[in-house]
Amino acid sequence: MNGKEYVSSVLEKVKKTNPAEKEFLDAVIEVLNSLAPVFDKYPEFIKAGLLERIVEPERQILFRVPWVDDNGNVQVNRGFRVQFNSAIGPYKGGLRFHPSVNLSIIKFLGFEQIFKNSLTGLPIGGGKGGSDFDPKGKSDNEIMKFCQSFMAELYRHIGADTDVPAGDIGVGGREIGYLYGYYKKISSLSEGVLTGKGLTYGGSLARTEATGYGLVYFTEEMLNDNGDSFKDKTVVISGSGNVAIYATQKAQELGAKVVALCDSNGYIYDADGIKLDVVKDIKEVRRGRISEYINEVPTAEYHEGCRGIWTIKCDIALPCATQGEIDADSAKILVQNGVNVVAEGANMPSTLDAIEIFQANNVFFGPAKAANAGGVACSALEMSQNSMRLSWTFEEVDVKLKDIMQNIYHNSKNAAIEFGCDGNILVGSNIAGFMKVAEAMMAQGIV
Ligand code: GLU
Repeated sequence: MNGKEYVSSVLEKVKKTNPAEKEFLDAVIEVLNSLAPVFDKYPEFIKAGLLERIVEPERQILFRVPWVDDNGNVQVNRGFRVQFNSAIGPYKGGLRFHPSVNLSIIKFLGFEQIFKNSLTGLPIGGGKGGSDFDPKGKSDNEIMKFCQSFMAELYRHIGADTDVPAGDIGVGGREIGYLYGYYKKISSLSEGVLTGKGLTYGGSLARTEATGYGLVYFTEEMLNDNGDSFKDKTVVISGSGNVAIYATQKAQELGAKVVALCDSNGYIYDADGIKLDVVKDIKEVRRGRISEYINEVPTAEYHEGCRGIWTIKCDIALPCATQGEIDADSAKILVQNGVNVVAEGANMPSTLDAIEIFQANNVFFGPAKAANAGGVACSALEMSQNSMRLSWTFEEVDVKLKDIMQNIYHNSKNAAIEFGCDGNILVGSNIAGFMKVAEAMMAQGIV
């Protein structure tokens, strides 16, 4: 059996055993489609059933999360933790609290996380978790009650050397604080069991900024390598959470003009360049909606609906909101408008069709698992600091982060060259991420 036949036989099996899991299947298709040349070069991987094992999570935990809201009503949500692969280190990956969360979404995120974490070069396996709980409109008390109930079950499955969750959509500093406080109370352990912690109890400087900064460091390296840079470029960034805010900040520092941001209701367009202090105040202090921006910047525009953000003409597009936000239609419009670079800050924001359109039109494409790895990389640096019981300065962490993102770009580029796909960072990152996990799994036997 050659590499191509092996990959399609495993893909068929995955489709058969997970028929209803669209997001998970898309993530598997995206990775596996890159790997055929690896199996031609290393047929021993086929004999060891490496792919059959890697597409099956080591453990999936589903649990009930009951809590009482401010009106005294009992609410029940579903909790998830998928411990996907621990070949190179403890499971590592965020928790997502969003009404759309289901097993397919957590499995897609966990699967991506295996290769993303491997690309960082740090010893972290892949996992992901979350709940269909919707934090929007909830009081602090309700958030705390939910987090405590969630941790009352999760704590028995995690630990600083087994599984280290962090944030993702809907889980930021406030939620991590409540989760950590409850873990400590019921386990009596003060350990680095979560990352993204507050600075007074074991958090790392630069963790908040890391995904957004990392995305821009990666993209700048890709641009520099092709004789270009962020300077004087027009940039559209979707989202207005942590990733989008700090991607905006770093892109502006490098001389770009960021003209748009969005949330799940709609987008703002500011031809003069986004005023980030206004956005930070709305999002980080008031937990408000992006539409409020035009109250303070009346020369800007607000439009309902988020897809319209991709109709804005730009040189660089950084999707930082959520999966599937750029479909084929949006990709076509971006290309027609002359986009040069698309780099993904969110997880799987471009559909498979959209990626094909970018590649067919020679758009430089920075895939999520490479481009947004800065967040989890900094989480791993937080774990190192916790283990040493020391903390590094902002600059020390930032230098390491930049170095990691530059290495991810070059390792992906070089893997693409080695396996005959020069210039294809998507294929290169899949192969580079896969190889380390594959070698570790080969060394550890059939487990
Ligand atoms: N949720 C982030 C991601 O998708 C960060 C995970 C982490 O820090 O563990 O990579």
